[in-house]
Amino acid sequence: MMNRLTIDGSLGEGGGQILRSALSLSLITGRPFKIDNIRKGRERPGLLRQHLASVQAAAQIGNAQVTGDELGSLSLSFTPEQIKAGDYSFSIGTAGSCTLLLQTILPALASVSEISTLTLKGGTHNPFAPPFDFVAKTFLPMLARLGTRVDASLIRPGFYPAGGGEIKVRIEPNAIGTGLEVLERGDFVSAKGRILFANLAFHIVERERKIMAKAMGWSEDEIQLEQRTDSTGPGNAVLIEIESANVTEVFVAFGERGRAAEKVAADACKQARNYLASTAVAGEYLADQLLLPIALKGTGRFTATRLSRHSTTNMEIIRLFLERSFRSEQKDRNLWQIEIG
Ligand code: AMP
Repeated sequence: MMNRLTIDGSLGEGGGQILRSALSLSLITGRPFKIDNIRKGRERPGLLRQHLASVQAAAQIGNAQVTGDELGSLSLSFTPEQIKAGDYSFSIGTAGSCTLLLQTILPALASVSEISTLTLKGGTHNPFAPPFDFVAKTFLPMLARLGTRVDASLIRPGFYPAGGGEIKVRIEPNAIGTGLEVLERGDFVSAKGRILFANLAFHIVERERKIMAKAMGWSEDEIQLEQRTDSTGPGNAVLIEIESANVTEVFVAFGERGRAAEKVAADACKQARNYLASTAVAGEYLADQLLLPIALKGTGRFTATRLSRHSTTNMEIIRLFLERSFRSEQKDRNLWQIEIG
């Protein structure tokens, strides 16, 4: 058996990504690991339900032996065996993010030779996690270039804190793919605004639409309002989708109790305008999420608006498992080039 890696979970940014990347990489490489100081950089350190759900899902698909898999745990050891494709169903219980759980086990399930299907229940539109729309429109098309074909559909949205959302996913075995070498965004195709809401007073949405129209130079009618009647709890996501020939980026801000609707809309617009002010392909979150797939592929190159601490931390975990390093170079104020291989 390969010798066990020891990881300090307080490294760099000290968040949940360290654990999730370690789980993905351990499954793929077969290398066991032990992690201490889990999420030590966060206000509520240790394994929250959402992280525990990722550990349990990874353990199930990789038939892993695990110790320390309890709520609040600061240490965990994980020893995987063979990855098994199959039809899996994981329920995160609270509004824990379905998309983060998906990203944890996706590389492993795509690496074996049979199709897998997943039913994931929990949050689909959570703060601090990729919203479903980002996964479907931004992240998965990039993975497709790397030969990983995944279909995802939103059955029902789940907002923080009530959750109750559901997504269905089909993962095909990795094919060859064209590789990820995207330095340019390509021609501008469209910029669209959408406001998703459930169990909320309509004036909230109208105020958001007004701010968005003004900040983005759109007419109010151009902004799509999507009311969901199938959500367990209240919820509100202001989404801006910017499609270019080589990439579609999705920016989001979430409504929450005590946060003015105007602020929520302004936040989404600010993110979109920052992106439009740069020529980079990936916003900071996509940049973050492309690191693992290109490292596994062995080669890849893209531009990003920013190199976050979250990304540099992720690079460090990837280096521990794969012994491959990224190169990153700042080309302009809001333009970085990131590559491996
Ligand atoms: P962590 O904070 O370590 O649990 O990691 C959060 C993950 O969610 C990272 O992979 C981020 O790239 C991703 N993420 C957070 N916010 C967004 C967002 N608004 N859009 C897309 N991805 C996001």
